[in-house]
Amino acid sequence: MQRAIRSIVLASRPRGAPVAENFRMVDAFLPHLGNEQVLLRTLWLSLDPYMRGSMDAGPSYTPSVELGQPMPAELVSVVQESRHPDWQVGDIVVHDAGWQDLTVTDGTGMRRLDERLAPVSTSLGVLGMPGMTAFVGLTNIAQPKPGETLVVAAAAGPVGSAVGQIAKIKGCRVVGIAGGERKCRYLLDELGFDAALDHRISGLAARLANACPDGVDIYWENVGGPVSEAVLPLLNRFARIPVCGLVSVYSDSDTTILPGQSSGLMRAILTKRLRAEGFIVDDHAELAETFRREMSSWLQDGRVRYREDIAVGIEHAPSRFVAMLRGETFGKTLVQVSRL
Ligand code: NDP
Repeated sequence: MQRAIRSIVLASRPRGAPVAENFRMVDAFLPHLGNEQVLLRTLWLSLDPYMRGSMDAGPSYTPSVELGQPMPAELVSVVQESRHPDWQVGDIVVHDAGWQDLTVTDGTGMRRLDERLAPVSTSLGVLGMPGMTAFVGLTNIAQPKPGETLVVAAAAGPVGSAVGQIAKIKGCRVVGIAGGERKCRYLLDELGFDAALDHRISGLAARLANACPDGVDIYWENVGGPVSEAVLPLLNRFARIPVCGLVSVYSDSDTTILPGQSSGLMRAILTKRLRAEGFIVDDHAELAETFRREMSSWLQDGRVRYREDIAVGIEHAPSRFVAMLRGETFGKTLVQVSRL
């Protein structure tokens, strides 16, 4: 029987926030395996905010997806068939491909996982790209010191929760900002943050000032918008701002800087000697081994915890992606495409 690759493609470009109707499920011909190729069956599909940028025609830090083409994703897969000497049937790997249930590849960029060390889904979250993002920005830019105050939003998500927990390990006072009472309770009770604020309730600026009596030494920029505006006046001299993401404005079409808009920020950067630096995790492969070693040991000691939000079935990827951007998922957003 002829098998097909089931994938989810970009059907239309969103105007503003994406909706599930921007995607379409298609079945495509599965080619025969050539020499030095493997067939992978997807176990886990990662849904991440950067994918919003790939839906637009214009430039982002990830390539734009053509209409009718599969959305990009990092996957954890199992080798189902192999005609490659380096890969055996049953190997579990993490790799880049698309929102799809099967992949034919020559193995370029694939990394083998050891399921005895950690659940393999964690290589898409706390032990994968989001965890590594936290590690890179903290190591290279934030450089947290004991006693400093760090503020992070999207704090219950995979990047923010890793940022806050690593900063706690480094001796910081950590203030998390998240959407809703349940996420805030999790930050306090499960992750040991010092304070947690709900950005959906009014008066964030005043509540944040109360939660940061000594000002803010590190603002981890994940969201932009009103959260940034509440944090900026509280920054101390020599504060660091790793600019990691701006999820609140990813769906804004007008990104022009209006005349006069940047002056206040530039003045604050100058007079307070701030260091604001954008970074992309992919540029820092040199830290990958150190990150995996340190994060594995923190996980084993229970000093870092994580949460996953799992939907079963590839057909749920569009709705879960939309939900993730709206803050309606809780923890690392994953789709379980098949079981081992
Ligand atoms: P999450 O899984 O935490 O999802 C994004 C979260 O952002 C939502 O769940 C929501 O959580 C919050 N959010 C959405 N809209 C708003 C808003 N208007 N105001 C405040 N919060 C909002 O994402 P990740 O942990 O995967 O990623 C976090 C950030 O890091 C993103 O900006 C992402 O693009 C960036 N990133 C950057 C990388 C890099 O290399 N620079 C690599 C990986 C991620 P809530 O319910 O709490 O509001």
